Amino acid sequence: MTEYNAFPAPSRDLCGTMHVHRRLLNESMTYRAQRARIENRALQYETGRRASVRSGVVTIPVVVHVVHNPGTPAQNIADAQIHSQIDVLNWDFRAANPDVSRVPDPWKPLVADIEVEFALATADPHGAPTDGIVRVETGRTEFDSHDGVKAAASGGADPWPSDQYLNLWVCQLGEGLLGYAQFPGGPPHTDGVVVLHSAFGTTGTAAAPYDGGRTATHEIGHWLDLFHIWGDDDGACSNDDRVADTPNQAGSNVGKPAFPHVTCDNGPNGDMFMNYMDYVDDDSMFMFTRGQRERVDACLEGTRASFLVAHRAAPAAPAAAPGTRPVEAQASGYVAQDSDVERLLHDTERLTREALTDIHDVLDLVGHRFGG
Ligand SMILES: [Zn+2]
Repeated sequence: MTEYNAFPAPSRDLCGTMHVHRRLLNESMTYRAQRARIENRALQYETGRRASVRSGVVTIPVVVHVVHNPGTPAQNIADAQIHSQIDVLNWDFRAANPDVSRVPDPWKPLVADIEVEFALATADPHGAPTDGIVRVETGRTEFDSHDGVKAAASGGADPWPSDQYLNLWVCQLGEGLLGYAQFPGGPPHTDGVVVLHSAFGTTGTAAAPYDGGRTATHEIGHWLDLFHIWGDDDGACSNDDRVADTPNQAGSNVGKPAFPHVTCDNGPNGDMFMNYMDYVDDDSMFMFTRGQRERVDACLEGTRASFLVAHRAAPAAPAAAPGTRPVEAQASGYVAQDSDVERLLHDTERLTREALTDIHDVLDLVGHRFGG
């Protein structure tokens, strides 16, 4: 679409997530503290001090808010376009995407099934049946990364509770943006993902080269705590994505790069530009790694644990349809929920003990240095 083609390629800022991240770091002490906690937990997973305890696939309920200006009817995208997006997410986060076969040989062993799936919500926050799609008219011609689309008061749509649903807003974005997400640990009322309607799904208004549904895959990667693969250090090679199995790379890649593309002395294989967390065209990105899965696990068993617990309880959820589910399933659903909560509490206790041990270790070290 013309919105981003109007910008020369090198200066395109396709994803606004880091703008939001830096804004929140500047504005909110709570966010800074939350992010420190989240990073600490992710590091524990990465270094093997903690291991994931979740088993099986987690299904995240999704609500799609289509915020459209009646003056541009195309913005009111069809249900089919939304369903095409959900399909792509369920391929990409399960490593079931057909193009995963294009991963270069050296990195094939790193390909990870994230074991997260997405389903349009079937019950709204009040328990009423829904198709998981909310359509809202707006007087605004476009939105930016300042979250106007996330509130009715600013011409957008209010979120559903963000600890129970992944809120996906689809609208017209300006500034050359394809989308943006809020990392875990941010304010609940702006938690979610925003995607440009013409970079959403694979049908309808979706336009090449962003018609593969990968903008949402990338942004939900951020929502599950993944950083850009180049570490957002503007080519300095000094910062990475805090994932060990993705090579350090200088900057973002765009278009359809040829393998290998070496930067930051990362030869012979070079940048992992085919990772969903780079900026290449939709048909040129097709993998998450095992290290990225560990960060997602840390997030799902930490800040976003409500989805894990709710998921385990899911068999008991649709009380509105009596008789359709065996009593055993309901009972086991509740048992699973209780044991999950216990396990998470137990984990928290363990983490606290570990942190105390760390502090003792440091005090010992300091004592030896300066005391003895
Ligand atoms: Zn991004």
